[in-house]
Amino acid sequence: MTRLRTTAVHGGRDDLADLGVHALPIDLSTTYPIPDQAEGGHALQHLAEGAAHAASPVYSRLHNPTVARFERALATLEGTSAAVAFGSGMAAVTAVVQAACVLTGKPHVVAVRPIYGGTDHLLSSGLLGVRTTYATADRVADAITPDTGLVVIETPANPNLDLLDIAAIVARAGGVPVMVDNTFATPVLQNPAALGATYVLHSGTKYLGGHGDVLGGVVACAEEHAGPLRQIRIITGAVLHPLGGYLMHRGLATLPLRVEAAQRSAIDLAARLDAHPGTGLVRHPSLPGADPAGLIGTQLRGPGAVLAFTTREDPTAVVRRLELITPAVSLGSVDTLIEHPAALTHRLVPDTAREASGVPTNLLRLSVGLEDVEDIWDDLDRALSGYDRTLSGHCEEDYIKSSSSDFRERAVSH
Ligand SMILES: *Cc1c(COP(=O)(O)O)cnc(C)c1O
Repeated sequence: MTRLRTTAVHGGRDDLADLGVHALPIDLSTTYPIPDQAEGGHALQHLAEGAAHAASPVYSRLHNPTVARFERALATLEGTSAAVAFGSGMAAVTAVVQAACVLTGKPHVVAVRPIYGGTDHLLSSGLLGVRTTYATADRVADAITPDTGLVVIETPANPNLDLLDIAAIVARAGGVPVMVDNTFATPVLQNPAALGATYVLHSGTKYLGGHGDVLGGVVACAEEHAGPLRQIRIITGAVLHPLGGYLMHRGLATLPLRVEAAQRSAIDLAARLDAHPGTGLVRHPSLPGADPAGLIGTQLRGPGAVLAFTTREDPTAVVRRLELITPAVSLGSVDTLIEHPAALTHRLVPDTAREASGVPTNLLRLSVGLEDVEDIWDDLDRALSGYDRTLSGHCEEDYIKSSSSDFRERAVSH
């Protein structure tokens, strides 16, 4: 097996030489000629039973070669024998719940908050006929019942960057399949399957695509679990468009470089934000005290490029003052994005549950992009400093005079 950057560039491309092409072909066919209808029938049967491929794709809802290449590349990066792509991250979450809970007749889910707001809402809405117990990480074992079909966790968590010990959760799940949402870490920083996770989920809309121009999701898992996911995808039609498969596959080639560069800036910005008088609590796995279990360097190869911070004043006022940073939901794009979880991504999570899971109302989430870090900082500093200038009449020199011990004390008190 080649090393990460090499795998990211070459994964899923093994048939290109035989095809005599260099770039990934985008196969837009919805249907495929079947001169021998009996043979076509066998192919359809294979695919309907969950096979990864057959003699003919038959029909693009059953199989698509462009999407299948992306799946092979992602599976290689995650170290799993298979991956199954969907039209969005939420379609992927839905398929996992259907495979683990609906198909098996085990309609109970245990989830550890915080998780992505959409996943939280899906699990609590009862839409799929499942009921969900939200447990803290150390109480997962207590929450499991004989009809628990799935444990859902996310680490680093959206939006407050909490870290969970995946292997410990898998042990507490006691044989119940665990789904880890690996969207924030990407396969560059973390491979949950190696730690016992059954399903590794990505919203490909974020880092995998990486440019804010494609919606998609993917689940990396063992082949035995991929079959049911493919069957569900065929029946429900939650397919990824081949253009989306192409864009996410192309994105994989630069994924390690993008994550490494954005992460470097995020480490720098987290430290500067932590020392800024306009912020309260700053959350990034790189900060002192953020990783008490020592997961960075073992489970997680780096702290990632998303951070969060509370503001001293109304967070919407801070966002309004930004000029460079894009005020928008989503993350993992080439440009830096900021959003207010309580207003947007986590709006549908009940306030008390949101606060209790460590997502205060005045928290902002920042997805650090690939701009020059000094330009990102200038924008943040200017926006956060508006507070002291307008409300308490301080000028910028006052910050410079503040001693570093004040900052440390402030960090500890949070
Ligand atoms: C965005 C996101 C999702 C949902 O993905 P979509 O592609 O928007 O459907 C799931 N989990 C996490 C962590 C996300 O950030």
